[in-house]
Amino acid sequence: MTEAHRLTNGRVFTGRRLVRAVLMEDGRITATGSEEEVARAAPTGATVYDLDGHLVLPGLIDAHLHIAELTRSREGLTLEGVGSISDLLERLRGWADSHPTSAVVGRGWHVEQFREGRAPERTDLDRAVADRPVVLYHASGHAVAVNSRALEAAGFDRSVPDPPGGRVGRNSDGTPTGLLYEEAMRPVASIALAAFPPEPAAIARTLAFVGSYGLTTVATMNTGPEELEALRALANAQALPIRVRAYVRLPFADAFSPSGLELSRKDGFWGIPGVKAFADGAFGPRTAWLSEPYADAPGESGVSVGEEGELLSALSRASERGLVPAVHAIGDRALERTARVLEAIARPDRLRGRIEHAALTPPSVLPALDRVRPALVVQPGFVWSDFWLSRRLGAERSRWAYAFRTLADRGHLLAGSSDAPYDPVDPWRGLAACVARRDPFGRSANPDPSESLPAEEAVVLYSVGAGLALGEPDLGTLEVGARADLVRTGVTDLARALALGASAVQETWVDGRPVPLSRGSYGEQSPSL
Ligand SMILES: [Zn+2]
Repeated sequence: MTEAHRLTNGRVFTGRRLVRAVLMEDGRITATGSEEEVARAAPTGATVYDLDGHLVLPGLIDAHLHIAELTRSREGLTLEGVGSISDLLERLRGWADSHPTSAVVGRGWHVEQFREGRAPERTDLDRAVADRPVVLYHASGHAVAVNSRALEAAGFDRSVPDPPGGRVGRNSDGTPTGLLYEEAMRPVASIALAAFPPEPAAIARTLAFVGSYGLTTVATMNTGPEELEALRALANAQALPIRVRAYVRLPFADAFSPSGLELSRKDGFWGIPGVKAFADGAFGPRTAWLSEPYADAPGESGVSVGEEGELLSALSRASERGLVPAVHAIGDRALERTARVLEAIARPDRLRGRIEHAALTPPSVLPALDRVRPALVVQPGFVWSDFWLSRRLGAERSRWAYAFRTLADRGHLLAGSSDAPYDPVDPWRGLAACVARRDPFGRSANPDPSESLPAEEAVVLYSVGAGLALGEPDLGTLEVGARADLVRTGVTDLARALALGASAVQETWVDGRPVPLSRGSYGEQSPSL
């Protein structure tokens, strides 16, 4: 029995063109075009939906986020919008009082938002909670502030040196301050995991919430064994509300047997396409690896995570097993290294590799990218969120941050993503930031208007482009043969949809069926322009 739905009388953007009607049969698009064309193709008994002139878009795709961390940040302690260290301690005390047993794990602090103009340290946190570990992630996820109990559990003291690829914040006598960067964060990750193990029910709630924005596929990055197990449980029970792709954590990739790769994606809801690796950190904690020192810290040029040779051999082993490399590279120096590594392991029969973020692309790194042509998985929302970037880089260099137009004009494949929870998951915020480089308060990491994209091209980043970056050309499009994933809006044109943001979404369809919405319980809203 065929399940067929015909959507008529709409403005349907297929990812390539605007049409009036679309036909879905058993989860696939089988016709798309004028009313007559689609009516002729429809089987008798197809359900007919009148779109009433409203806009339909391909199901949106977030090509890079972190489902377990997003779940933890939705259901754990959030420090977003905290304006000072004393307010942070207040919030910490409140959370600890109402959660008396477990370690305290939070996320979202940012020095640029603190009145004190410095990061919280061990001695600050001890004043709020001293009887159990406290682990507070920086908004970027690339640094963490811990109290004395957590530092002790992690095994850092004056006599222990910094681990390779990591940095331990220290006083002049070498005593750790409680700030840990990059690889030095690894020992406290288990504390966070023990306090918030990824549970299938909680992950399903997060995915339903994510789906309410019109997202029909998400790629969760740097997946560890616990998150993978929870996602597999949901996939096996056919309980994933939207499609999920996982890029496993590099050290864990070697443990995969080729038969366990789950690349077949029979029902298309689940797959493990690749492996995630790191070449550097982030701009906020000054760990993004730059070719010239930071403008606001002349002695620092960031952190190179791992050795180039090791990265190359680990990624080529993973590629041999069918896992596509996705390498985090933010600074220009990290991008140069990553391009070299991807070039060395590229083969004509393999899917193209991905560079995650590709944030700082001055003219000096463009030739290397042009040669290798990886998918560039960008986060347009960072154009607004990193409004302080010119302090870190200087105005001349920040001109080349998030240079989407420059990259697209050179023929690069760009894929949209949020990096949630390190930025709001809302794709409408990212769409708006592609078009208007300045946020509603006039702020921007790189306001250069020549880097903005037209609205339709922005939608392509979050649909067709992201599908291609996942190696799945049948995602993110409403052309014939594609999976029947779409967003039904309550507006008649794209400009109005971008102005309204997420509230323009009326329904999210996955695999030819509407999925239940669950937005409203959480504070992420699209600012209206
Ligand atoms: Zn990320």
